[in-house]
Amino acid sequence: MALKKLGSAGRFGSRYGRKIRQKVIAVEKVLYGKHKCPYCKKNGVKRVSNGIWYCNKCNSKYAGKAYDNKL
Ligand SMILES: [Zn+2]
Repeated sequence: MALKKLGSAGRFGSRYGRKIRQKVIAVEKVLYGKHKCPYCKKNGVKRVSNGIWYCNKCNSKYAGKAYDNKL
């Protein structure tokens, strides 16, 4: 049922309004997306928990960046 343009906010269906769901998509892209590893420089870092990141390329786990100032 989830449409492509709704992204991760598709679980809300038509609820809560378009603007706020667009914000959710922007936030969750950073949350669940892949990030660059500061150790091996590869794009394999995923969020484990609040401020905890894990790289599945070089198996490093480190703390930092719970918030994103671009949002
Ligand atoms: Zn790494």
